[in-house]
Amino acid sequence: MLELRPTCERCYKELPPESTEAMICSFECTFCISCVEKYPEKKCPNCGGEFQKRPIRPKHLLEKFPASTDFFFKPRD
Ligand SMILES: [Zn+2]
Ligand SMILES: [Zn+2]
Repeated sequence: MLELRPTCERCYKELPPESTEAMICSFECTFCISCVEKYPEKKCPNCGGEFQKRPIRPKHLLEKFPASTDFFFKPRD
């Protein structure tokens, strides 16, 4: 299940679960769409993977499966 991380790892922009600007790679490195546009070939700077738009979890399921609130910024190596 996706964590639905709350912020862009690069610019700290808030990316709430209903955000249409959230992009994730297969490891769920999470960036806003404007940061993704700045990376060469729009590849993830952490793992080199491709980005996809993060799907929006329906509201009624968010109550049962809440989004992560862990603040996450520093890219891992
Ligand atoms: Zn950003
Ligand atoms: Zn990644």
